Amino acid sequence: MAIVSNHYKIVRVAENMLNERVRLITAKNSNAYTNFGTNTYLIGTQNLAIIDPGPNLTSHFENVLNTIGSAKLTHIFLTHSHQDHCAMAIRLAYETGSKIYLLADPNLSKIDLLNKIKDKSDKDQKFCNKIFNVQVQTIKDFEQISNEEWCLKVIATPGHMDDHICLALHGSDAIFSGDHVMGWSSTVIIPPMGNMSHFILSLEKLLERDENLYLPGHGDLITNAKDYVKSQLNHRKNRELQIFDLIKSRPFTSKDLINIIYPDINSELREAAESNIFAHLIDLASKTKISNKGKMSIKSKFFYKL
Ligand SMILES: [Zn+2]
Repeated sequence: MAIVSNHYKIVRVAENMLNERVRLITAKNSNAYTNFGTNTYLIGTQNLAIIDPGPNLTSHFENVLNTIGSAKLTHIFLTHSHQDHCAMAIRLAYETGSKIYLLADPNLSKIDLLNKIKDKSDKDQKFCNKIFNVQVQTIKDFEQISNEEWCLKVIATPGHMDDHICLALHGSDAIFSGDHVMGWSSTVIIPPMGNMSHFILSLEKLLERDENLYLPGHGDLITNAKDYVKSQLNHRKNRELQIFDLIKSRPFTSKDLINIIYPDINSELREAAESNIFAHLIDLASKTKISNKGKMSIKSKFFYKL
C-alpha cells in the first residue's frame, strides 16, 4: 500500500526489509488505534538496539528473538511509555540481558521507572521476579548513545506523551518518530499526559532538523517527512482556529464539538477525537479568552469571555 501526495510520500515497506542495518517487525496488535500494529525496529547487525519492543504478545516476543538470532541485543529504547510500545520491554531485557533506556526524571527509582513501563496486564509475580535482573537507564534530550555499529541521538518530543522521544540515526537521513509523527494518522493527545502546545512545539523542533525520512511507531515509512510535518502543523492550527470560532459563537463541551468537527467519525475513535478536542481547548484556554467554570475536565463547557 502506498499513499502519495504532491509533497510527501508514505510507503509501506515489507516486514524485515528496510535494509540490512535497520529491520522492521510489526506486532500483531492491529486495531483502530494502532493501524497495522506497533512497529518494532532493530538497528545493527551484531550488537543490536531495539526501538519500541512493543506489546507483550508471545508471537511478537518470539518473532523478535528469532530476528535477533545469534546477534546480541544490548539496548532497548522506548519512544514513550504507552503499553503498545513498552509492555514487552522488561520481558525482553530479562531474556537478553540488554538495558532499557527511556526519557524520565533521573531522580525516579528503578522500581518507579519499571512500574511506568511494565506490562499492566501481568497480574502475577512475573514482574517482581524479573525486575532485580533488569537494568534501566534514563536518557535526556540531545544525548547520544552509540556502539561501533550505530549512533542514536535523543530528540525529546513531548506532546503525545510527556516522556515521548524521537531518535535520529546518525549518518543517515532517518528519524524514528514513534507516535509523534505517524505514517497513517495524526497522533492522539490525551491530557494530562498529552499536551497540545508541547506537541506543536515538538513538531516545530523536528522542522529545525535536516532528516527527511521518518520511521514511525505505527503505519508506513514517510519520505519527504518535513513536508508531512508541515501538513500536520497546518492541520492542528486549522483545527485550533475552527474550535476557537465555534466557542466564540456559543459555549460547547468537547463532546458537543465532536459531532460538528468529526460528523462521520468511526465510533471506536470518538474517545480519541474527544481527547484531541479537549487538548485543544486546554491550549486555547491558556492563551486566549476561552474559559470554563470550576475545575477543568473533559466534561467542562467552554465559553468565550467578552
Ligand atoms: Zn502512544
